[in-house]
Amino acid sequence: MTSTKYIFVTGGVTSSLGKGIISASLAKLLQARGFSVTIQKFDPYINVDPGTLNPYEHGECYVTDDGAETDLDLGHYERFLNVPTSQANNVTTGRIYYNVIKKEREGEFLGKTVQVVPHITDEIKNSIYKLGQTDKFDVVITELGGCVGDIESLPFIEAVRQARFELGHENAICIHLTLIPFLNAAGELKTKPTQHSVKQLLEAGIQPDILVCRTEHKLPDDLRRKVALFCNVPVDCVIEAMDAPTIYDVPLLMREEKLDQVVLSKLNFSYKKAAGLGPWTDFLSKLKNPRDKVKIAVVGKYVELQDAYKSISEAFVHAGATNQVKVKVYWISSEGITEKNVGEKLAHMSGVLVAPGFGERGLEGKINSIKYVRENNIPFFGICLGMQCATIEFARNVLKLDGANSREMNEKVINPIIDLMEDQKNITEMGGTMRLGSYDCEIKEGTKAYDVYGSTNIQERHRHRYEFNNKYLRDFEDAGMIASGINPKSGLVEIVEIKDHRWFVGAQFHPELKSTVLNPHPLFVKFVKAALDLKNETK
Ligand code: GLN
Repeated sequence: MTSTKYIFVTGGVTSSLGKGIISASLAKLLQARGFSVTIQKFDPYINVDPGTLNPYEHGECYVTDDGAETDLDLGHYERFLNVPTSQANNVTTGRIYYNVIKKEREGEFLGKTVQVVPHITDEIKNSIYKLGQTDKFDVVITELGGCVGDIESLPFIEAVRQARFELGHENAICIHLTLIPFLNAAGELKTKPTQHSVKQLLEAGIQPDILVCRTEHKLPDDLRRKVALFCNVPVDCVIEAMDAPTIYDVPLLMREEKLDQVVLSKLNFSYKKAAGLGPWTDFLSKLKNPRDKVKIAVVGKYVELQDAYKSISEAFVHAGATNQVKVKVYWISSEGITEKNVGEKLAHMSGVLVAPGFGERGLEGKINSIKYVRENNIPFFGICLGMQCATIEFARNVLKLDGANSREMNEKVINPIIDLMEDQKNITEMGGTMRLGSYDCEIKEGTKAYDVYGSTNIQERHRHRYEFNNKYLRDFEDAGMIASGINPKSGLVEIVEIKDHRWFVGAQFHPELKSTVLNPHPLFVKFVKAALDLKNETK
């Protein structure tokens, strides 16, 4: 075993307390002190991964370089740490059982009865230790989804208890995230729910080392002392986590509360230099002091739930800060956009992004939006299905190709501008079978894409089944929509753009997945810039 140390983050009282952001903030502070850190998320549901989940159920599905379809918290980890994650960083109950059942079928258990303890808990521990054994990380933070006391998280809690016992308490600590509600009628902060959730952890054999308390009001000293006494933790291990103006403020709040320092002393780490968060605070100051603002519409079909487009909205935050403008995003449902009302719906927008998605619902609204911005020279950015729609719109309205569509929407399509490639035709299983993960893309010089990337060789992440049909490429290019990014191995079209438009770019991949605080994605940065230029021109 390596010298890696482990931090487990559990949650109590209620879900949605922001374990992902607290974990990412702590990781950021440790990273700023020179430690290499990774964060892992356990999800207690039975799906093998969230790839088959509807975005309404689970929010965005975040894709890693190695093609894993994962929980959206991994997006936060990457945005905060600027370090890629992988399949090993997201493990569900479904995957654990899948692995164990596979081993059972292969006879690996040598005739033994296969049980939750020890076989499932061993598999969980293996997936924790696997990250630590790579020698790459000083610290592995493992976040447990759900709340203590949930039936489905029991095996994970038991695995954490065993891991702490095996590793020793100076090598493995538990941070419990809890809520201290304020009762208006009583005019008081209440600690009882926290006491109860810590009791539940104790029943499972885990004494938390640190309590991070979400609260809407400052915690007075006497209340901190009370929580400390009733929950068996030193008073400096009761950390206040007030609501923050943005998620990017949380590392600084946690630094003020000395969360990183108590963690390091609990783990017996000798202190390294104080956290250097210079570039992070520069970003925050640009974010908070915009010089201008710009309105951008995101046209999609899951707009009621913005978690469905988490990485897109964060990429706009990064790109806004880089341009020092406030990007005001208007989430517009594609279903309600008709040829008649499109002008009204998109009036006052300085840019329009058409979002990724699956299936036919809302497709025509996306196409109507694209026709409008193409004809009115308004900056356009299409991502994945958004790019596919841009090519369909161009085929229908510029090339005048009858019935142009994607095979996904109509199996008997006459002009399949977007089609299934050979290797996708015989696939019957849905999970993990799309074109997933990082692929090379070659950028043509002298194009907008080249202006954006400043390089001819890039890598971007994919998550789709259908592709642009190269049979039509010649006609598209002759009419002014060119392929400015191509996969060098397969020849598949990865980026399209319109030559004589101020900024009209469609990407078959998902650039939003690679935008981080320290590396805002250049496509978002330049799109926001184009929108800002339009706004200032028409003032
Ligand atoms: N539905 C399209 C495909 O599978 C696009 C997917 C997406 O937008 N992520 O090709």
